[in-house]
Amino acid sequence: MKYVSTRSRGYAVSSAEAIRIGLAPDGGLYMPDAFPKIDGKFLKEISALPYSDRAARIMHLFLSDSYSLDEIAEDCSAAYSETSFPGGPAPVKKTGSLNILELWHGPTSAFKDMALQVMPRLFVRAVRKTGDGRRALILVATSGDTGKAALEGYRDVEGVEIAVYYPVDGVSEIQKLQMATQTGSNVRVRSVRGNFDDAQTGVKKIFSDPSIAETLDRRGYFLSSANSINWGRLVPQICYYFSAYCDLINDGTLKNGETLDVTVPTGNFGNILAAYIAKKCGLPLGRLICASNSNRVLTDFFSTGKYDKNRRFILTSSPSMDILVSSNLERLLYVAAGHKKTAEYMSRLSSEGRYVVDSDVHDALCRDFNGECRSEQEVFGTIRTAYEKYGYLLDTHTAVAYGCAEKYALRTSMPMLVISTASPFKFSPSVLSALGKSPCNEEEAAEKLSECTGVEIPYPLRGLTGRPVIFPPEDSIAPAEMPDDVLSNLRY
Ligand SMILES: *Cc1c(COP(=O)(O)O)cnc(C)c1O
Repeated sequence: MKYVSTRSRGYAVSSAEAIRIGLAPDGGLYMPDAFPKIDGKFLKEISALPYSDRAARIMHLFLSDSYSLDEIAEDCSAAYSETSFPGGPAPVKKTGSLNILELWHGPTSAFKDMALQVMPRLFVRAVRKTGDGRRALILVATSGDTGKAALEGYRDVEGVEIAVYYPVDGVSEIQKLQMATQTGSNVRVRSVRGNFDDAQTGVKKIFSDPSIAETLDRRGYFLSSANSINWGRLVPQICYYFSAYCDLINDGTLKNGETLDVTVPTGNFGNILAAYIAKKCGLPLGRLICASNSNRVLTDFFSTGKYDKNRRFILTSSPSMDILVSSNLERLLYVAAGHKKTAEYMSRLSSEGRYVVDSDVHDALCRDFNGECRSEQEVFGTIRTAYEKYGYLLDTHTAVAYGCAEKYALRTSMPMLVISTASPFKFSPSVLSALGKSPCNEEEAAEKLSECTGVEIPYPLRGLTGRPVIFPPEDSIAPAEMPDDVLSNLRY
C-alpha cells in the first residue's frame, strides 16, 4: 500500500516514510491509496483476541508495506500494557440503551494516549527504516492534552528528544501540573507568554526557518511533529472502533454484521475520521454523528456544505473541541472529492477562511455523516441527568457527544456507540458545577468530586500536587525566544 497526498498526485511514499515525514511536501496530508477490506470472518477471528492483538492485526492492514506483523504486535503489546492502561485500553460500558467506549484509561487520562502510546514506537522504527541516522527533535505546541500525551509517549525513547511549549495562561491548572512534573531524560517543557496561537505560531516559525534546520542538521537532528495530522496518529485510532464492535458481538449486543451508529466528540476531526476509515474497510458502522460544542463550524458544514471559520471563537467547558479549523477534515474531502477539488477548497480556506463544496460532494458526505451540536447549558444538563439516572459520570467533552447521541437516538432504534474521550476528573470543576456543587479551586475539585460521587480518581491524576516540579511554569519565555530555547537545550 502506498500513501498519497490529499492535494496532488506524485508524492506517493511508503507508510514508514509517511510516518517519518508527517506532512506531504505540497502541504497535503498522507492518505492510503486504497482501503483494505475486511469481512465477518476477520471480525470473528479478532473478537477472540485481546486489545493489543486486535490493534496489531488492524494496523498491519495499513502498514504491511514497511512493518512486519511481529514488529507491530511488539509495539502494541508494549503500548497497551496493563501498566499503561490498567483494566484495559478501550472498555465498553452501558448506560440505558447507549454503549460508551471509554478511551481515557491511559497515562494522561485523555484519549490522545490511544495513539500517542504507540505512535512513538512506529516513528522510531520509521526513522530506522527510512532515515539517515540523525536524531529526531519533536516540537509540540499544545493547548493541553496533546502536549502531556506526547511527553508520556516519547519519554525515554531512543534517538528522540521532545520539547513542548504551552501558553502560560491557556491551559488548566491540572494540565500545567501534569506537564511541570513530567519526568524523562529526553523531555523539555516550557511555558510561553501569550495564548495558544502565540505558542503555535512560534513552533511553526521554527519549522519553516532554514537557518534553524541547518543548525540542527549540523548537530545531527531533524525536526518532526507529533500532532494529529501524522498518519501514525490516525492509524491506531481506527483499531478501537473494531475492538468495540467485537466486544459488542461478544456480549450479545450485536450480531456479527449488524449496523452500529457512532457519535464522536469532535475537534480536529481525527477521531471521527478514524471511524469513517473503519467503515470504509467494511466494519458495519452506520451513521457517524459528528458532535460539536458551541463552536459549531462542523455542524453547519454538514448541514449546508459551506465551511466558514469566520466567526467568533467561543471558549467552552470542552476546550479540546474549541476549534475553528479541523485539519483532518481535509482527508475526508480527499476521499469524497479527490485531490484536485481538495486542493482548491484548502486554498480557499487559507485565503478567505471559507469554502463551499460541490453539491455532489455534499450529498456524498451526508450519506455517512450527521453534524449535531450542544450548547454549554445542554452539556451541563446532560452531565447531571446521566449521573442522576445511571450513576455514570461524564466529562464535558463526552457529554457533548452523549447529548448529541440521545438527541439523534430519538429518531432511530439502532444500537449506538458514544465515544468517551476524557476522564471526568480532568475537568472536575465543570463536572462539579454541573452536579450543582459549589465551586472550589482546581486542585481540590478532583477530591471533592470523588468524595461526593464515590468514583475513584484515576491513578495519573492522583497526588499531582505532591510531585516534584521539574519545569517550573514561572520560568516562561516570550514567543521570540523560542528558537534560542530550542537550540540551547539540545542534548548532543
Ligand atoms: C483531542 C480531543 C478531542 C477531539 O478529538 P479530534 O480527534 O481532534 O476530533 C475530544 N475530546 C478530548 C478530551 C480530546 O482530548
